Formats: sequence, C-alpha cells, structure tokens
Amino acid sequence: MRTLALLLALSFAFDSTAAEPKRSGDSLRQRPNILIIVADDLGYADLGFQGAKDVPTPHLDALAARSVRCTNGYVSHPFCSPTRAGLMTGRYQQRFGHENNPAWLPESTTAGLPLSQTTMPQVIATAGYKTGAVGKWHLGAHPQFHPMKRGFGEYFGILGGGHVYMPGGSKSAEYNIPLNRNGADETQTKYLTEHFGEEAPAFIARHAKEPWLLYLAFNAPHTPLQATAKYLDRVKTIADEKRRTYAAMICAMDDAIGATLAAVKAAGAEENTLVFFISDNGGPVGERGNGSTNTPLREGKGTVFEGGIRVPFLVSWPAKLPRGKDYAQPVIQLDFFATALAASGATLPPNVKLDGVNLIPFLSGEMTSAPHEHLFWRSGGGDPMAVRAGDWKWVRLRDGKPQLYNLARDISETTDLAEQEPAKAAELQQAVRAWNAELIAPGFESPRPAKPARKP
Ligand code: CA
Repeated sequence: MRTLALLLALSFAFDSTAAEPKRSGDSLRQRPNILIIVADDLGYADLGFQGAKDVPTPHLDALAARSVRCTNGYVSHPFCSPTRAGLMTGRYQQRFGHENNPAWLPESTTAGLPLSQTTMPQVIATAGYKTGAVGKWHLGAHPQFHPMKRGFGEYFGILGGGHVYMPGGSKSAEYNIPLNRNGADETQTKYLTEHFGEEAPAFIARHAKEPWLLYLAFNAPHTPLQATAKYLDRVKTIADEKRRTYAAMICAMDDAIGATLAAVKAAGAEENTLVFFISDNGGPVGERGNGSTNTPLREGKGTVFEGGIRVPFLVSWPAKLPRGKDYAQPVIQLDFFATALAASGATLPPNVKLDGVNLIPFLSGEMTSAPHEHLFWRSGGGDPMAVRAGDWKWVRLRDGKPQLYNLARDISETTDLAEQEPAKAAELQQAVRAWNAELIAPGFESPRPAKPARKP
C-alpha cells in the first residue's frame, strides 16, 4: 500500500501540469484574447500594406505595422467554405469530405462541416474562453450546423455563403435570408459591413474581464458589389465603376476592423491579444470578378495558382511577436487552431489530429526551421491539385500534365520547369500522391456540380 502511495506521489511529481498554479481569475486573464479576422474574395494586392495605392486601408495598415506579415501565407482552398472548414478544424478539409461549397439547403444534414469534426472554439472554450462569431458562416444551413452548435457561445451574422449589404442587389434566396442572432432571425436594417463593425466591438466590450475568442468573418468584398456614399467618396479617383465599388467595400471593412481593434485597445488588451487577418481565397479576377487584383500572382479565386491561394496574412501579438516584420516561410490558415491552442493553454482531445502547427515559435524567431515540409491543395475531388515544398510548387490541372514552378525565382508562375527538373517534379508528385491517399471523396457537391475527380 505504501509502495502504491509512493508511486502515485512520484507520478504526480513528474506530471508537469501539476506544477502549474491553479487557474485563478488573474492567471486566466493573462491568457491572450484571440481575434480571427477573415475577408472574403479580397485581392492579394488590394490593401495599403500589400502595396495598393488606390484603396486606403489605414486601420489594416496600422495592424500590419504591429504584426508579423507572412509573405508566403496560404489558405487551404481557393474558395469560400472549404477554407473556413480548414480554419475551424485545423485540418485539411479534404480529410473529411469538405472540398466543395455547401448549397443553401436547410434540410440537408450532409451539406456542411461534418459533426464528426472537433472545432477550434469547442476546444478553446474548455480553457475558460468566451467564444463568439460575427459574420459569414457558410458551414452548412441545417440547424445542426449553426455556429452555436459548433462551439461558439454567441453568434450574429449571415449563415449562408454571401448576402446583400443592403436590401436589393441580388435575387439569390441565400443572399436575402434574415440575419441571425443567437439562433433567431433578425431583420437587416444597416449596411451589413458596418453592422458587423458594431457587433464585434460589442462582443469585446461584453467580455472585457475574461479571455475570449472572436471569429470575425466579413462577406466583404465578395459580390454583390454594393457600397454607400460614405465609402465611395474615399475612392472616387478610381475610374472603373466595378473596382471603385469593390474598393469602397474594402474601406467599409477597414473601418469595421478599426472599430474592433479600438475596442481591444479600450479594454486594455492590445498587447495581449493574438490577431490573425487573412482573406479566405484570392480575388476573383476577369469578367466575372469583383474588380480585385492579385498582382504579382497568377490568376485568382478558384485556381491553385498563387492568385487563388496565397493571401494577405497577418499575425499580431505584441506581447510575444515582433512588430512590422516580414516572415517568408510558407504558412497556412490551418495553423490558426494549433497556434490558438498553444496560446490559450487548452488541451486537444486525444482523438483530434491537427495538420496545422503552432506558429508562435517560428514567427518569434525562436525556431528557424520551416513550419511545414509540404503544403497541399485539392479541390472538387482531385481537379486541380498542388503541393508546395520549399521554393518549389507542383501543379496539376484538368489536362493531367504536371507543371513545376520555382516560386523564389518566379512568383508569377510563368515558366513551367517540369521538363527541365523531372526529378523534382516526380518527388513532389509522389508527396501529393501520399497525401491524397489519406483523403476521402467529397461529401457534397458545390451548387454548380464539381467536375469528376481525378487521381494525381
Ligand atoms: Ca471567398
């Protein structure tokens, strides 16, 4: 009996968690708040800190000045819903069949983020965090997929993939549904981006005395292109009407982000708030686009060329990270979960395996190796696919012919090196094959049916 007691005492002594102080209100408060801001269909080049000259974004530029800017920052999908599924789960969304956009089908229990998956807010909440989401959801229309069934304690926003900013402007039923506040319908009365810019600061003010996780997902500047005179006035020098309206929508989003960051500062939490900012995919360019530009990246939304998947990407945590620094190793939005997990002190359930990594030691300079050996993309069940490893990127489109680019020398993916570098092309193809073997078939189709799947 004495032996057992001694063993128990020893095992307790060697349990590192036992040495931590009990969680008091004070120690809980020292944990950082976590703010994840997502723009929708924002062009790579359309913010001041990304080089834009015609779109004034003073609040995002100020955030960039106290952030690490990830210049090789990616999302795990070239369009809306799958990127959000990856962000929420910290896992390649193709592992659980989420590689198309769910149609707006409130009766469907399959068109949405599968309930088998554990979400970031579910886990972060276990560390004593208050969790809230404001904005676009797009992870399923059935009530079982509602944000408050998937880990958020509070919700205000639009449950579909997009919405009118003010009444009129779209005939889509999905884009005209009532707003949703904590599960109840609410009539739209304001310019939508401004409304999100009121709700996010209100959440922060409500929870000034406890750590919180806030997911602020704008639908701006996704279509329909709608802006008010207040914002159009700021970009009146832009001659093209489409780009002018798009730019005005970015101005409205910048104001809303400014109000949100001001609320963080007013709560005395600017130093100890971990802020992420990304777009969910690249800007849709061309005739059917929204007026965005992804210069110098190739193509845009929907493709696995850089214009579809490399996005403006900021990580700010003044208490822990350098300010105004660029970081060039490839990182991805899948990393947000693991980073938030480490920052919050929450414990991951043992059955959950993340693909993302904690970025803090990399962005702080403590670790100098690359966070990821490979980053992978697959859309619509296999068409197209891509992998990045170091400076190299392998791409395979529907024609089945592998392409190879060196992004360090050729950021615009102009020169296919597959024939000149067959060994590198084969190595990357092998890597993408191995990854692909871990995935399952898409669990649902996009409203416009996806093309048949192909093997890499
Ligand atoms: Ca999008």
